[in-house]
Amino acid sequence: MKRKHGSSIFRRNPKEEIINRARKRVFNRNPLLATSHQVVCKACGSTQKITYLDYLKSGRFELGKTQMIEVSYAAPTIFALSHTMERITPLIVTVRCERCGTEITCSPVSVEYLLFTATKQEKMRNAYV
Ligand SMILES: [Zn+2]
Repeated sequence: MKRKHGSSIFRRNPKEEIINRARKRVFNRNPLLATSHQVVCKACGSTQKITYLDYLKSGRFELGKTQMIEVSYAAPTIFALSHTMERITPLIVTVRCERCGTEITCSPVSVEYLLFTATKQEKMRNAYV
């Protein structure tokens, strides 16, 4: 599997990029984002249903600190495992509990994952034009 990282998609503001793509319905078929999820308030235990896509569209999310993590994979041409560094920037959605007002933070996906799936879908669409 080929994975291209980051050359062009990170030039602009990644948050703007995600909002734009969400509004263009790029993520509408992503079950993680487009279906509702239950979050539980740690303070009072009440549950709420949220759809991450709504938060993405309206820009109600923050980007966490980018971390470099080491991932290893089996390289076909080399005997040993290879190591590579990948960037992971958590996307943080903050939900306010309807009952007690406590803020619940969730980090369902990373920015890299989102932009990667978006780019992939755009490419697929362009292939049929
Ligand atoms: Zn609560």
